[in-house]
Amino acid sequence: MKEILLIKYGEIILKGLNRSHFEDLLVGNIKKALPKDSWSCVRKSQAITYVEPAEGADVDGMIKRLQKVFGIVFIARAGVFPKDMDVILKEGPEYLAPAMETVSTFKVEAKRGDKQFPFNSPAISREMGGAVLRRCRHLKVNVTQPDTVVRVEIRDREAYVYADIARVSGPGGMPTGSNGRAALLLSGGIDSPVAGYMMAKRGVELCAVHFASPPYTSDRAKEKVVELARILAGYVGRYNLYVVPFTQQQLAIRDNCPEEHLTLIMRRMMMMIAARLAKKSGSLALVTGESLGQVASQTIQALAVTDEAAGDVPVFRPLIGMDKDEIVTIARKIGTYETSILPYEDCCTVFVPKHPTTKPALAKILESQSRLDMEYWVNKAVEEAQWEVIESEE
Ligand code: ATP
Ligand code: MG
Repeated sequence: MKEILLIKYGEIILKGLNRSHFEDLLVGNIKKALPKDSWSCVRKSQAITYVEPAEGADVDGMIKRLQKVFGIVFIARAGVFPKDMDVILKEGPEYLAPAMETVSTFKVEAKRGDKQFPFNSPAISREMGGAVLRRCRHLKVNVTQPDTVVRVEIRDREAYVYADIARVSGPGGMPTGSNGRAALLLSGGIDSPVAGYMMAKRGVELCAVHFASPPYTSDRAKEKVVELARILAGYVGRYNLYVVPFTQQQLAIRDNCPEEHLTLIMRRMMMMIAARLAKKSGSLALVTGESLGQVASQTIQALAVTDEAAGDVPVFRPLIGMDKDEIVTIARKIGTYETSILPYEDCCTVFVPKHPTTKPALAKILESQSRLDMEYWVNKAVEEAQWEVIESEE
């Protein structure tokens, strides 16, 4: 039995004149997400993208990957039939039968894309309804509140038959690459991978920046970050991770600045370095996993002081209004949670003041910061940053 995957998308079809640009991006991303030899054709037509699996391809595996491609609202696995009503009525119900085991009512909706086809949509629906009832004796028709809708689509080349019950949802959002690139400040915690996912869902391509302070932070802490980055790559494709050696900077801050300002000055320096790396990598914004009030450095005043250091690079904080349990729910859904909770240290937790300032005034922080040659330390970090290409493991 030949099958095809019908990919439907939501928001991007609203984009009017840009629609075909969005669709082309999506088609490209779909091809990148699937193993090269798994498909024989990926094409778009009438607001649907069709993926034809190659002979013997692992279709379930393909669907799993497509469920991570932003822009896809759902994926329907459909039976492919010749445009011959007798064949459709005979073989269609047979194809549908296993999925229909799980429901008790249905209705049929037919779409006749090819107006030459000798039956109109109401006639196709009526005939197919009868044929399904004859094959699946337990079913009843319910046109107002059916358990599932059986769809018959007569398209330009062939006819497709599937039931809504057998379709799976994609992640929604917009195709990766449709909204520029941003640099994600990626720690090993729960929040920042979720923040990266949320911006990526809006079509943003990523690069990531991680600050490491060996020997205070271990190799395993860094490996954990690489692992999180790889999980994100399953959604956004390959990207660069910059690993910034940050030990000497942190020691310089500790040795020169007032203790209660350590965290904020460190965060400002992280922003300055990340903003430079963002510009270097063609990124238009920074992304962090901060959430209002979560810790001392995430009060409104502290965030304002941190932001100022990013200069003209906007800082996106998609988690700003979320509770921790909401963030955890997403982390579990996207598959980062289990890795995030591995107990390795982060550079932000190495030198923590006992009584951090929670309502800092920028002028005071700038004064404390002036005890350091910020420019020197920022330049040094940018120069010493190493980058590696991150790819999904699947
Ligand atoms: P997370 O769970 O993402 O680590 P958090 O609640 O622990 O966040 P902080 O440690 O204060 O909060 O960090 C706030 C944000 O700063 C993080 O979400 C992340 O974007 C960034 N950040 C923290 N540590 C690092 C690091 N070592 N490298 C890069 N970015 C970092
Ligand atoms: Mg953290």
